[in-house]
Amino acid sequence: MSQPAEVSSQLCLACGLCCDGTLFADVELQPADSAERLGALGQKLRRGKDSAGNSVQKFAQPCPALGPDCRCALYAERPARCREFDCAVLRSVQAGALTPDAALRRIRHARKQRDAVRRALSALGNEEVARPLSQRFQRTKRALEAGDVPDGRTWEEAAEAFGELTLAVSALQFTLSREFYPDS
Ligand code: SF4
Repeated sequence: MSQPAEVSSQLCLACGLCCDGTLFADVELQPADSAERLGALGQKLRRGKDSAGNSVQKFAQPCPALGPDCRCALYAERPARCREFDCAVLRSVQAGALTPDAALRRIRHARKQRDAVRRALSALGNEEVARPLSQRFQRTKRALEAGDVPDGRTWEEAAEAFGELTLAVSALQFTLSREFYPDS
């Protein structure tokens, strides 16, 4: 790893957490974005509200343009939010406060924690891989609260599995809050 842009690119190609539904649930379009063009490229846009309650167009994560190798199929035409976003790990590397190797270790650790959450969701019968992790967790929680226990599981087994899921989600959230969100 040598030049800063190259370093960022290599770290992102080892990560993908801001595109795969781990850090964010959706991406809001900005005035500079062409909804028509993004729609033509295959992004499924829907109307929603931004944090101030204004109507915006957005698309859900995990982003369908994210490939298994963490490459973006729309990279040259990606929306402004994606173009402008640098997580706290990248910012620390750019500021010289974190070495690229240390950044890579943080990324690998967070991805392992993400995988643990995915496994815990699967253990409770949630295989909704097209939804962001936060939604999958909430939907699993609501299903259990409604008494919907996964096939082949006793209530006690489901309760234990939910405890493991909650721990895995807390560990991941702790890492993301401390190391990845831009105000970390
Ligand atoms: S979370 Fe950070 S390192 Fe990971 S892909 Fe996004 S910007 Fe790159």
